[in-house]
Amino acid sequence: MREVYVDNNATTPVAPEVVEAMLPFFGEFFGNPASIHRFGARAVIHCRAAREQVSAFLGANPEEIVFTSCGTESNNAAIRGTLDCFPDKRHIVTTAVEHPAVRNLCAHLSDRGYAVTELSVDEQGHLNIAELEDSLRDDTALVSIMYANNETGVLFPIEKIAPIVKTRGIILHCDAVQAAGKVALDLSALPVDLLSLSGHKLHAPKGIGVLYARKGTPLSPLLVGGHQERGLRAGTENVPYIVGLAKACELAGKSLDTERTTVGPLRDRLEEGILSAISHCLINGDRENRLSNTSNISFEGIDGESAILFLNEFGIASSSGAACMSGVDTPSPVLRAMGVPASAIYGSIRFSLSRYNTGEDIDYILECLPPIIAKLREFSPGRPPRDP
Ligand code: PLP
Repeated sequence: MREVYVDNNATTPVAPEVVEAMLPFFGEFFGNPASIHRFGARAVIHCRAAREQVSAFLGANPEEIVFTSCGTESNNAAIRGTLDCFPDKRHIVTTAVEHPAVRNLCAHLSDRGYAVTELSVDEQGHLNIAELEDSLRDDTALVSIMYANNETGVLFPIEKIAPIVKTRGIILHCDAVQAAGKVALDLSALPVDLLSLSGHKLHAPKGIGVLYARKGTPLSPLLVGGHQERGLRAGTENVPYIVGLAKACELAGKSLDTERTTVGPLRDRLEEGILSAISHCLINGDRENRLSNTSNISFEGIDGESAILFLNEFGIASSSGAACMSGVDTPSPVLRAMGVPASAIYGSIRFSLSRYNTGEDIDYILECLPPIIAKLREFSPGRPPRDP
């Protein structure tokens, strides 16, 4: 059966070049970078080269890169590590649409006495900059705002947010897990202090992430132990995955144009095909100002999870909202914050493409999806009128 993978915001296939780059580090180059013998020295050389490659991808300096295990760890290290440095500052500003790796952490901190302000979004998924300005207080330790939303792809204007936060002398953390590899990130021009990445969202394996920490940013380590990562993240370096992530960053840097010239048009063709073949559906989030790979569509009168299961029968992998919410029967907090009605939230499907998708993939989805929606609507009590 044909298989079409359009769930790349959940995870991406590992690029073959990344696998190839990693393989020697499971064999010949197995050394621990902390060892002073030749095996350790080889590992050091490759970790150093990888750090340089990742920093070049971000427009950063190598000593500003901290390798972690995932995006969640990077977010925890940024937020907890900042709060630890400012014990008298007990206020955090974030948004209502962050990934659970930030949102649930902030809720957890709120239970432990921190004041948390969650900025609202409008129906397009945009922040109100005046609300951000008003939220900042003398005891604000940190602002944590994502670059691109994982469910809708909507981009936040970090370039406008950063100067507002920085003129108040507040630390700014940005979760760029979904943005990395899809939009150009140049930290030499973007004054964020801390920024999170995750390897498995950009065709590297699961189990590797990055925390960018601008030189001079106060940061207390989340993991304390050895002196790895300049004391900012203890634990023996995951050399194969660090090398793999560097290769993935190199490939992502080279294919940024492809996101705009190929992935975007494929996503647009998918949306236009869906909108013309299926009535009573709407695209969630600002259609202009979003990642070129993501489409979040609500289909009136259906249950999104059922559609996803039917699509799966045809070999098509998509998702409803955040992947880690799958199987959890609560409507997406992101769509809820945007004021999408509950019925439309339950009827939403997220398609997230990558540079590995083709026009034939889109044709196949457009062939399979309309009959699935029509069938589900037939059995739905409050179904919208039949499509012609
Ligand atoms: N932040 C965002 C925006 C995400 O989309 C994800 C994963 O979906 C994460 C953080 C968590 O990353 P990881 O799965 O590497 O922990």
